Amino acid sequence: MRQYIQEKILPHVLKPTRYLGNEWNVVKKEWEEAKVTMAFAFPDVYEIGMSHLGLHILYGLVNNRSEFLMERVFAPWVDMEEQLRRHKIPLFTLESYRALGDFHVLGFTLQYEMSYTNILNMLDLAGIPLKSADRQEGPLVIGGGPCALNPEPLAPFFDCFLLGDSEEMLLQLLEITARHLNEDGKFDREALLGELSLVSGIYVPGFYQLRYKPDGTIGSVDPAKEEVPPRVQRRIVQNLDEAYFPTKPLVPYMEIVHDRMMLEVMRGCTRGCRFCQAGMVYRPVRERKKDTLLKQAEELVQNTGHEEISLTSLSTADYSCVQPLTKELLNRYQDGGINVALPSLRVDAFSVDLAAEIQRVRKSGLTFAPEAGSQRMRNVINKNVTEEDLLGAVTAAFRAGWTNIKLYFMLGLPGETNDDLAAIADLAKKVLDIGRQELMAQRGRPNITVSVSSFVPKGHTPFQFEGQNPVEELRAKQQFLRGQLKGRGLKFKWHEAKLSFLEAVFARGGRKLAPVLENAWKSGCRFDSWDEHFDYAKWQTAFENAAIDPEFYANRPFDYQEVLPWDHLDAGVSKAYLIREHKRAMEEALTHDCRWDECTGCSICDRFQVENRLWGDEINVD
Ligand code: SF4
Repeated sequence: MRQYIQEKILPHVLKPTRYLGNEWNVVKKEWEEAKVTMAFAFPDVYEIGMSHLGLHILYGLVNNRSEFLMERVFAPWVDMEEQLRRHKIPLFTLESYRALGDFHVLGFTLQYEMSYTNILNMLDLAGIPLKSADRQEGPLVIGGGPCALNPEPLAPFFDCFLLGDSEEMLLQLLEITARHLNEDGKFDREALLGELSLVSGIYVPGFYQLRYKPDGTIGSVDPAKEEVPPRVQRRIVQNLDEAYFPTKPLVPYMEIVHDRMMLEVMRGCTRGCRFCQAGMVYRPVRERKKDTLLKQAEELVQNTGHEEISLTSLSTADYSCVQPLTKELLNRYQDGGINVALPSLRVDAFSVDLAAEIQRVRKSGLTFAPEAGSQRMRNVINKNVTEEDLLGAVTAAFRAGWTNIKLYFMLGLPGETNDDLAAIADLAKKVLDIGRQELMAQRGRPNITVSVSSFVPKGHTPFQFEGQNPVEELRAKQQFLRGQLKGRGLKFKWHEAKLSFLEAVFARGGRKLAPVLENAWKSGCRFDSWDEHFDYAKWQTAFENAAIDPEFYANRPFDYQEVLPWDHLDAGVSKAYLIREHKRAMEEALTHDCRWDECTGCSICDRFQVENRLWGDEINVD
């Protein structure tokens, strides 16, 4: 098969390297020796999937166990899909070129709502029935990742979802699967799912019944079996420092989005931005020790040949040992030509100093995310940043020699007024003025890029109750800013409002949306987050044919009492806390970070027996 594909198909597709699969550090196991085989599926192209740390973690973790085997598959680009369909070749994994249908488990990572049609397409290309109920044979189809915490629009297509950190749970799932396999390598799906549904963190949607009210909202979600828990709790790796980390990751032969070593310094963020789903669903903060990270870095350097180490997390500048760690990494590796990168900066001068230290030689652009233009709006979203902080940070950046600054904002935030919107343009102009002053002596010119996305209300956040602005309103706001942000040194970028609208529909929607996804995929939707493929007209028809009003999900405010499609999935932060935080947002009241101060009552630590775990010398809560 490999030879046939490489000779007959790959010469006819763009970027054939995407499908070769012979990367450095690849793991190829004997199929017959593995007790359980799993394909890890990333529903987007290779370059994006291979930049995803979660893939490398699970690939190493599972393959470290002699009785398990994991291989990879990515969404084939449209040219490859055409070839596969023409030659009637089922979608295959990169390691062994085996069809996905041959595996015991097929696991999709759910990173982004707009990749959902790619999932259906991959199942279809593999010849696997789309719906769980239609699959008597073939792999157990599972999903994990952030969107698994509101997976309802995908519910009929999946056998189960893994909520939260997958490390421990996935191994458990494979062990249980191994026990259920007969001699012919098959399993009784119902019995296997029955046992899996009792594992903490595993949600089997087929075991829950939904009752709707006449107005279309959910009346209740009830377990269809006695033993199934009414709410499924997310899993949390408590001691990240001792958790598995892949120090011999795959090294691609083609350029990917993040072509570098990744060191995960911590998980979680407790800053409490009220729109941020990651900040709510990855709590509490769990750091790795500096020495652990140094050791991991050493192994990564030996095993990969990459020239950059990226310190990854939701907010790396908040890592309590960021300064000593960065210094030590620079001391050890800079002479060998290895850079250190901090992908996320805080809006303060400390971050700029740190960045300046790192990028002594080559200064790429700096990005700051004030998120909102006015102080009032920053208080509403609980972004504990002042204009002074931002202006101080950009001054320091221009002084240190940066000329390109990117500012990231959101429009359509709850309670936004014209003044808040105008404040975005004002702030950008202030930054430009500072740039001109600071760079005058150096004869440099500042370039400010203002990148504005539209607010998408996400489940498990305080803003889950807020409706999104209608598309026309989002467009009018974009137009207004476009008019304001013209001129030399200013660049304005915005996101397609209809795409944000669809994202909101699927982020806030429930099980009734599944037929829409199927309709959209059937009419040709895939790679929806790619401009050249996004076709809103097809989506509109898909909604009409399913008799679904998308605005009901995206634009309607949700009542505090309403049963939301993800209420039976416990991400940790209590609904009472989300309501309290939502009310505080309306009062423009700030809530502090529980990492540096007392607990603010989100309830996860007590209920899940976890705590913020920091290792810095100054701040050690342990
Ligand atoms: S329970 Fe308290 S300390 Fe723990 S994450 Fe929530 S707010 Fe922070």
